[in-house]
Amino acid sequence: MSGKKYHRKGVQIMHIAIVSLGAFGHVNPTLSLTTELVNAGHRVTYFTTEAFREVVEPTGAKFVATKSWMADNKHTGNKKGENEGLEDSVAATVPFLFLNEAGAFIEDVLRVLREDRPDAVLHDFAGIAGTMASDILDVPNVMLYTSYPSNGSYSVAASFEGVPEDHPLRIAADQIAEDYAARYRCRKMTVKEIFDGQGDLNLVMMQKRLVPNYETFDDSFVFTGVQIGKRSTFGAWQAPDNGRPLLYSSLGTAFNNWPEYYPILFDAVRDLDINVFAALGSVDPDSLRDVPDNVEVGQMVPQLDILSQASVFITHAGMGGTGESIYYGVPMIAIPQMDEQAITAREIERNGLGFAFLNKKEITSRMLKEKIQILLNDNSYREKVNEFSADMKSLGGAKASANALTAFLKKN
Ligand code: UDP
Repeated sequence: MSGKKYHRKGVQIMHIAIVSLGAFGHVNPTLSLTTELVNAGHRVTYFTTEAFREVVEPTGAKFVATKSWMADNKHTGNKKGENEGLEDSVAATVPFLFLNEAGAFIEDVLRVLREDRPDAVLHDFAGIAGTMASDILDVPNVMLYTSYPSNGSYSVAASFEGVPEDHPLRIAADQIAEDYAARYRCRKMTVKEIFDGQGDLNLVMMQKRLVPNYETFDDSFVFTGVQIGKRSTFGAWQAPDNGRPLLYSSLGTAFNNWPEYYPILFDAVRDLDINVFAALGSVDPDSLRDVPDNVEVGQMVPQLDILSQASVFITHAGMGGTGESIYYGVPMIAIPQMDEQAITAREIERNGLGFAFLNKKEITSRMLKEKIQILLNDNSYREKVNEFSADMKSLGGAKASANALTAFLKKN
C-alpha cells in the first residue's frame, strides 16, 4: 500500500500515524482530533498500549497495540513518593521511562508503517517513538503540545536538565538515547530534544494567553486550544437533583496518590451546602474514613460530564484538566503535584481564574473551605473563566487542529 493516495469527493486522503504514551493525559487530547480526521475521510493508524484499545477504537482509527516497557515493569508514574514535586528522582525517572517505552513501541510502529507509509507522524513529547519513526521514515514530524511549548525564551527541559550529571538514571537515559540514534539512525533523544524539541508543524492544545512568551513562537506553532469531544470512557454522571452547586475534585491520572488530601477535603466541605464529587485515581475508596454525606467518590470518572455541571474544580492543574475547566467555565483551586502544573497553577491565580496552593503540605481544611466559599460567592471568578472560555472556544479545538494539519500536508 506504500505511498498510494486515494481520493474521496475531491478530498485527498491522507494516512496519519499517531503515537501516544499509554496514559489518559496523553491519549485524551488526541481523541477528538483523531475523530475529526477519520470523519474527514483520512486514514489514521493509532499506536499505543493495549489498555487504550477501547478508548481509541470508537474514533474510527485503526488501533495497533504496542509492547509496553512501563507495563512490563509496572511503572505507572504513580508510585507513592513520586508526587512530592519535581525532585531529582522524578526529573531523572521521567526521561528514562519515556525512552524505555519508546524502545518497546518502535518495532511495532515501524513494522506497520514500513508497509503502509504515513503522510505524517503525530505525537507529543512523551511519544518519543513518534519522533524516531518520523526520522526513520523521513516523513513530517507533527508535535502535539499536551504540555507547554518551548523556545529560546522558555524551556520545559530546563527543570529536567537540573538532574546531577552523575545520576544513574540520567546516565542510563543518555546511553539509551545514544543506542537508539546509532541503531535507527534517528536523532538522539536527549532531555533537551524530548522536552524542548519542535515538530515541522506544532499544534498547541492551549490558549495563547496561558503560554509563557506565546508571542515569540513562529508560524509553525498553531494554537488550537483544548480538544473537547465525545469520550467513550467511564460512563455518564448526573449531579444530585437538589439545586446545590457541585464541587468536583481530581488530582488527575498520573501523580494522584496522595491519600492525606482526602481528610482535608472532607473537613473543608462537610458543613457546606454543596454536592461534592471526588475522583480518587489510584487511592482506594475503602481506605477513606468519615466520608461526609454530601460527598460521592469514584476512582476514574467521566470528567467532561462532571465539569459541565460543576461550579468549582479542585485540580492538580494538569494541562488537560485546566483546559477542560476553562472550556466549561469552571473556576479552579489548583494544587499542583509537579513543576509544569505549578506554572499553570500560578497562571490560574494570576489571571483571576481561581486560587493556587503551591505548597500542598501547608493546606488546611480551613484554608480550602475559605477558597471554595469565595469561588462560590464571588461571581468575578466565573466571569473571568467565561471570558477565557470564549477565547478557548474561538480557537476551534480538534477541528482547527485537523484543518491545520491537512493544510500543512497539502502545502508540503
Ligand atoms: N480524566 C478523566 N477521569 C478522571 C480523571 C481524569 O476522564 O477520573 C481525564 C481528564 O478529563 C483529562 C485527563 O484525564 O483529559 C487528565 O489529563 P491532565 O492533563 O489533566 O492530567 P494528568 O492525568 O495527565 O496529570
